[in-house]
Amino acid sequence: MNETALRDRIAAVGRSLFQRGLTFGSTGNISARVDDGWLMTPTGSSLGDLDPARISKLDGAGRHVGGDKPTKEAFLHTGFYESRPNAGAIVHLHSTYSVAVSCLADIDPADVLPPLTAYYVMRIGRLPLIPYYPPGDVDLARAVKEMASDHHAVLLANHGPVVAGKSLDDAVDATEELEETAKLFLLLRGSPTAPLTAEQVAEVRARFPVAT
Ligand code: ZN
Repeated sequence: MNETALRDRIAAVGRSLFQRGLTFGSTGNISARVDDGWLMTPTGSSLGDLDPARISKLDGAGRHVGGDKPTKEAFLHTGFYESRPNAGAIVHLHSTYSVAVSCLADIDPADVLPPLTAYYVMRIGRLPLIPYYPPGDVDLARAVKEMASDHHAVLLANHGPVVAGKSLDDAVDATEELEETAKLFLLLRGSPTAPLTAEQVAEVRARFPVAT
């Protein structure tokens, strides 16, 4: 996809996420790799109303070279790309159900959600929790970068998910799968639940390797 088409696609995806309540206000940000750097949604912008021409452009060193100023959470994206050179796009949302799960006291920080469906196993797999840091804390950038080398999706405690994909559509699909699984998990809390067994998870992984 060339840069113009990718700018249009970021705006279209942002509008879709916003209209379906997956993001709100000026929260959430999207980035995608281009030949000579990255596109990134601007600071203070609503994902529901992005102007493709004003989407921020960063060069290969992460310097702002065009469009509006990039999101203040740019470090979440650049850290991820540094650790995952094959990532083509990254989505970060403050989506309600994922954030709700990130606030629970009794989750396993090594793998937050159970494998409730094969689609979750295919698109997310394992989801580690990154401890809470204040917004903009340099230690958060470091923690995300470290965790990203082994995981294409992470959940920031009391904050939200960051999900990488080979393409923008892959990253969006995986983020939505995560949000829906968080919703299922909360709906099922308190009910006896039968997630996929270890054997079933292994079978899904063998057939559909998570590709990021
Ligand atoms: Zn955020």
